[in-house]
Amino acid sequence: MMTGNEYKASLDDGRATYFGGEQVHDLPAHPQLGVAVQNCADGYDWMIEHSVDGKSPLSGVPTTPEQLREKVDLVHQSGMMSHVTYTSIMTLATVAGRMQDTTPQYIEGIHQYMDEAQNADIRITQCITDAKGDRSKAPKDQRDPDAYVRVVDRQRDGVVIRGAKLHITGASLGHDLMTIPTKSMKPGEEDYAIAAMIPVNAPGVKIINTSYAPRHDDLRDFPVSGSNNYPEGFVIFDDVFVPKERIFLDGEVSQAAIFAHSLGLWERLGGLSSMADGADMLVGLAQLMAEANGLARAAHVREKISEMIIHATVVRACLEACLMHAKTGPFGAVFPDELYTNAGKYTGAAAYNQMVRHVHDIAGGAVVTAPGIADLENGDVGELARKYMTGDPDSGDGEYRTRLFHAIRDLTADTYGGWKAVTNIQAGGGLFAQRIVTRKHYDMDRAKAMALATTGLGPDVH
Ligand SMILES: Cc1cc2nc3c(=O)[nH]c(=O)nc-3n(C[C@H](O)[C@H](O)[C@H](O)COP(=O)(O)OP(=O)(O)OC[C@H]3O[C@@H](n4cnc5c(N)ncnc54)[C@H](O)[C@@H]3O)c2cc1C
Repeated sequence: MMTGNEYKASLDDGRATYFGGEQVHDLPAHPQLGVAVQNCADGYDWMIEHSVDGKSPLSGVPTTPEQLREKVDLVHQSGMMSHVTYTSIMTLATVAGRMQDTTPQYIEGIHQYMDEAQNADIRITQCITDAKGDRSKAPKDQRDPDAYVRVVDRQRDGVVIRGAKLHITGASLGHDLMTIPTKSMKPGEEDYAIAAMIPVNAPGVKIINTSYAPRHDDLRDFPVSGSNNYPEGFVIFDDVFVPKERIFLDGEVSQAAIFAHSLGLWERLGGLSSMADGADMLVGLAQLMAEANGLARAAHVREKISEMIIHATVVRACLEACLMHAKTGPFGAVFPDELYTNAGKYTGAAAYNQMVRHVHDIAGGAVVTAPGIADLENGDVGELARKYMTGDPDSGDGEYRTRLFHAIRDLTADTYGGWKAVTNIQAGGGLFAQRIVTRKHYDMDRAKAMALATTGLGPDVH
């Protein structure tokens, strides 16, 4: 297994990565990206502490619902880069199972890659979302044929690809880019039906980073995002050669969507599990704030918190249900139930703004105007600021209440809060995608039969 320091050294591999208009030559030392690198390095050391027989506790593929639950918990604790890596490996396991009858020629290569990647303990990020150009047009009908990643040259020992994948979480911090079609492809779009693993430092790969990491001197006012942030990468494939052994689909248009569907499932499971914890945490924050304001017994505040509790409980119930109803694939790998995963992720995302509205409503305007921690320490105004920031003194002093406000602002009303609001809606394929998949897996025939039975037009349904 790699140590955190070995991980940091591994990033010095000639990768072309950019931030704020400049190329970054030393990722660990970079003022913004360095924090994320350190988080990832800490994740490596955490894995070593929790290793089983000298291997990462996440290695292998779960073969029982209990193992799946255990891994979901571990993934959740182990940080973003482990999360995206695990999701990538599980996507490949699911793809291999679904390719069995259609494109078996890729299965051995996929399994071999999964073993190699886990043994090398590398981090993998997921490149699925293309630039997409005019959304109303198919890849082959775009004015710019590079709007979707495509093969531009075929050589004896591999292919050359061109295009871009956008919004890729942690792209600059991983080692391989799992590059897969974002949607189904049609005959005539063979060049777009390409799936491959591409090293981040492959010649022609260029990554532009964006980050919600706070650019302030005093990170104490950013208790969440100050220490826990990851960049997104705008990944450009400027004619990148991919050797044959790293290609997992090349031209079979009928199979292109398998990758997106498989990744979607695992991505949404990750989203659902973090939303379940996130919703409980927001309930706790709302309650602490209500207590600090001396309003925990006010009827309207209790009602809002009760609504929040119901939302948090429903989201967690979907997580429990998707794990409890886990299914087993052809090679023995277990995957979560599609219906509950998608319905849960949708519910968590669609009602998130309502949760935030309640927290803001309960907390008050100091969410965005509370003095900074440094102000509370100032010799002239600090004591006065703490005095006037105190709410119910039995809950805590002025600094305690100020820190609650900072946590709420950072989480819901500042750069990270804005990022989170958009991410909840878009990451994992967007709300529309979750509606489609939920509907596809819902038992509509049973629902119709129940309706017919109720109206007396059909037999009873049990
Ligand atoms: C913070 C963050 C992290 C992310 N991480 C990753 C990642 O690691 N890897 C990755 O690959 N992606 C990632 N994504 C991308 C995410 O999956 C996409 O943002 C999402 O799929 C939507 O795609 P888009 O942003 O291009 O929006 P669009 O596809 O342009 O969607 C905008 C709206 O247009 C609608 N729309 C789009 N096309 C059509 C059409 N043909 N007909 C009708 N309506 C249409 C959509 O339903 C939506 O309502 C991330 C996104 C965010 C915000």
